Amino acid sequence: AGAGGWSDDAAEIAPHLAEWRGRWRGQTPLLLRPGKAAEVACILAICNETGTPIVPQGGNTGLVGGQIPTQGEVLLSLERMNRIRNVDVQDNVLIAEAGVILASAQKAADDADRLFPLSLGAEGSCTIGGNISTNAGGVGVLRYGMMRDLVLGLEVVLADGRVVGTLRSLRKDNTGYDLKQLFIGAEGTLGVITAAALKLFPRPASYTTAYVALAHTTYAVELLQRLQEATGNLVTAFELLPRFGVDLVLKHIPETVDPLSRHRGWSLLIETSNPRAFDARGVLQEALLTASEDGLVTDAVIAKNERERRQIWRLRETLPEAEKHEGPSLKHDVSVPLSRISEFIEATEPEIYRILPGARPVIFGHVGDGNLHYNVSAPVGDGAALDAASEKIETLIHETTRRFNGSISAEHGLGLAKNEVIARYKSAIEIDVMRALKHTLDPKNILNPGKVLPR
Ligand code: FAD
Repeated sequence: AGAGGWSDDAAEIAPHLAEWRGRWRGQTPLLLRPGKAAEVACILAICNETGTPIVPQGGNTGLVGGQIPTQGEVLLSLERMNRIRNVDVQDNVLIAEAGVILASAQKAADDADRLFPLSLGAEGSCTIGGNISTNAGGVGVLRYGMMRDLVLGLEVVLADGRVVGTLRSLRKDNTGYDLKQLFIGAEGTLGVITAAALKLFPRPASYTTAYVALAHTTYAVELLQRLQEATGNLVTAFELLPRFGVDLVLKHIPETVDPLSRHRGWSLLIETSNPRAFDARGVLQEALLTASEDGLVTDAVIAKNERERRQIWRLRETLPEAEKHEGPSLKHDVSVPLSRISEFIEATEPEIYRILPGARPVIFGHVGDGNLHYNVSAPVGDGAALDAASEKIETLIHETTRRFNGSISAEHGLGLAKNEVIARYKSAIEIDVMRALKHTLDPKNILNPGKVLPR
């Protein structure tokens, strides 16, 4: 595999075994770092023949433990496969290897005067292969969709080492089963992605970013509809922020500013991405003014320049980090129909206080997609109380999600975090079909065993 292609040095391997939230610790005798697809193919063929389990890893930013070898599996890092193979501005396609960092793919598109729109807090370290394997979402889903919507073709190595070369960049291709879809969101359990053809978009001429004081969460949906109508669907981000979450950011993250310090309730970060010759600022201003007259919002600011835009985004982007400073917290990543977000919060929040007095819910997220990161921080200084109540709180959130026809994993996946509990929230038939697919593509169960599917 060439220089740096493998390591059995504990110190070198260590960063690959710890994950972001410190929830799982891995162990492995061997880290493999192939440089090309043919090497991945060779590795998998050997693993398959010898029945050696192997865990694919990209940027190690996954939040459900999927990328961690907890059972001493071999670790397959795609980090050296980090070439942008091609940017085609006629076909609007970028071909990237799996280990390309998301921010590098964005930059390569930008350099060619195009936009690759996937954007999320971990974009400086997560990889295209990881993004595809988790079907990542992020802050631009409203306008551009999830990673699944951005993939035109994939190059995938199967468990037995054969390469499925569906690396096409066609917009239309109805030639039977769309195999690439199987591997998107499969969390490395069905094959190893080595490269992808990704969709590019026209680069917006500008962005308009507002920070809005919401009168009540129930008005969020109506506000979104109004803004979409006023702007002709230009709203790209529509993120809900709780007062407590903003306070945590201001307390723990340096150089953060509260644009509406007198507002004590929920806020929204709203961003439109604008074509040239469209007065987004004027349109947004007018729509927000009307919304304020109608009682939907109580205050709003629109960023005047890039510095103010960055300040507003910083409140949203650093929220997970700020939460970390405040001690342990339970994380849920749920989605419910958009129209029921407010009702969902009202059905769960009082119950959490009943289960654990002093608990501090931090409910935020991509509310424009019906997706809430429903986190619950421990009562001040009492992580043990949160531990003791964790099962009850999780059951409350998940059962309420079910009642609202929602999903218990909106964007992070199942990994090790939800592979058991999912058996309660998918039908037995769905689980059977998932198992049958896994068995067909990986009969010896060497690829990321024990993840995604219930044991
Ligand atoms: P890893 O963590 O390395 O792996 C994730 C999964 O994919 C694992 O199961 C692994 O086995 C598998 N995998 C990785 N590479 C391959 C490959 N080449 N072939 C096959 N399988 C592979 N996620 C969102 O969706 N939206 C967000 O807004 C968001 N915000 C985040 C903010 C922060 C601060 C952090 C830390 C994480 C956030 N995440 C978010 C989660 C995470 O960034 C995404 O899941 C990301 O897509 C993972 O990419 P990665 O390269 O780090 O993958």
